[in-house]
Amino acid sequence: MGGLRDHHSHGQISAGLCLGIFAIILGLLCQAFSWVPGVEAANGLHRPVLRFNNEGTFKILQVADMHYGDGSRTPCQDLIPSQLRHCSDHNTTAFIARLLAAEKPDLVVFTGDNIDFDSSNATKSLDEAIAPVIAAKIPWAAILGNHDQESTLSRGEVMSYLTQMDYSLCEVLNPYLQTLLLGKDLNPSAKNMDVYGFGNYYLQVFGALESESENSSLLNLYFLDSGDYAKFREVGGYEWIRSSQLIWFRSLSAKLRQVEDSPPITPALAYFHIPLPEYKTVLESPKMILGEQQEEISSPLVNSGFFTALLEAGDVKATFVGHDHVNDYCGNFFGIHLCYGGGTGYHAYGKVGWPRRARVVLATLGWESKGGSRKTREIVTWKRLDDESMSEIDLQVLYNGYEGWWFTKPFYKGRLSFGRRGNASMWIASLLIIIILSLMASSSVLINVLYRHFLRQKRGSYVPVENSHVESNGSFG
Ligand SMILES: [Zn+2]
Repeated sequence: MGGLRDHHSHGQISAGLCLGIFAIILGLLCQAFSWVPGVEAANGLHRPVLRFNNEGTFKILQVADMHYGDGSRTPCQDLIPSQLRHCSDHNTTAFIARLLAAEKPDLVVFTGDNIDFDSSNATKSLDEAIAPVIAAKIPWAAILGNHDQESTLSRGEVMSYLTQMDYSLCEVLNPYLQTLLLGKDLNPSAKNMDVYGFGNYYLQVFGALESESENSSLLNLYFLDSGDYAKFREVGGYEWIRSSQLIWFRSLSAKLRQVEDSPPITPALAYFHIPLPEYKTVLESPKMILGEQQEEISSPLVNSGFFTALLEAGDVKATFVGHDHVNDYCGNFFGIHLCYGGGTGYHAYGKVGWPRRARVVLATLGWESKGGSRKTREIVTWKRLDDESMSEIDLQVLYNGYEGWWFTKPFYKGRLSFGRRGNASMWIASLLIIIILSLMASSSVLINVLYRHFLRQKRGSYVPVENSHVESNGSFG
């Protein structure tokens, strides 16, 4: 009996142990597959979480069209002869290092044509091209251009390699789709969705650690593969953003907007390589453009409606592309800013006398703490040139989160160059307060002057009496 009981208790212990182990495994599995903000565990990598800093800012550096080849052996293009002699891919690397030192971005986004046909080893070129960002320990994301597959790797392989590099936030398959496939939020049509291309994914930027917005995304970033060349012979030209990508974007944007408690909705930015046809249309309104257009806009020959999808969704406030190296403008088209990065790479074609450049975006949280969570209230952009003083040019506002605040309205029409950095709205409010105070001060001075004048006049009317009084006093003296 004792033996049996022992056996029984032993059985209980092992059953308990099994249950315990099972619970731990289940827990670990749940943890691995749960949608932890910013940590995408599905591909086995732990990724850095993007967050606003304690000052409430988040800065993104866009590096467009590096066209990195074989390092020191790769010549440069479109420079004056004396500069050309000593120029190679290393000049691109040095420029990126200077950009990082000057701007200290929180995220770097490589918007395609990162490498091209002059690379004899794709992985080596990618390693070298992205090295300065990894050395600076800055998280980065990348998308493909139309040239990235011209070296030794296919588009899928390039994207897959990019995901495995240090500090990379790249994804081949978008995490939203992974979430759906893992059985959360099952939507039958989405489950079977095959999103065209390699590197359609998104990132969220959360509030600072231990702040009220620690677990809220305050800025969303979409990355899309805009492809290379049209796969329909009768069309030709460049690839367009396919309908499966539109469906993916629509459903993802709707999901991200669902979590909003109060307006305004969390703003978003979209990065891809090839400009949408609307980049051409916006040029018809020169007043809405800031920056330069020096070459033809090489968009696809058909319009697949991605801009319309952005307009309908309402969260994307600006899009950023590369592709046309000597265009660097931002055009405001029905409230969405269509921006070029401007060519960064020295091996890429450029324009003699027109410095290589990169675009910076700065998102700033408002100072209010309404409803316990701060919101992104302003997004501004400018460009950094690779000239002697690393010039900063074309500062403009891409998003004003104070839309309902009447007094900021006049300042946000068209291009605004107010306050070099940070929250222009705060500058505007301070300026208004100064104006009101000085008006009050000057009006009080005016009232004082008028009152004295009035008194003098009043005194003036009694002159004879006063005079006689003074005289009589005088006579006493
Ligand atoms: Zn290019």
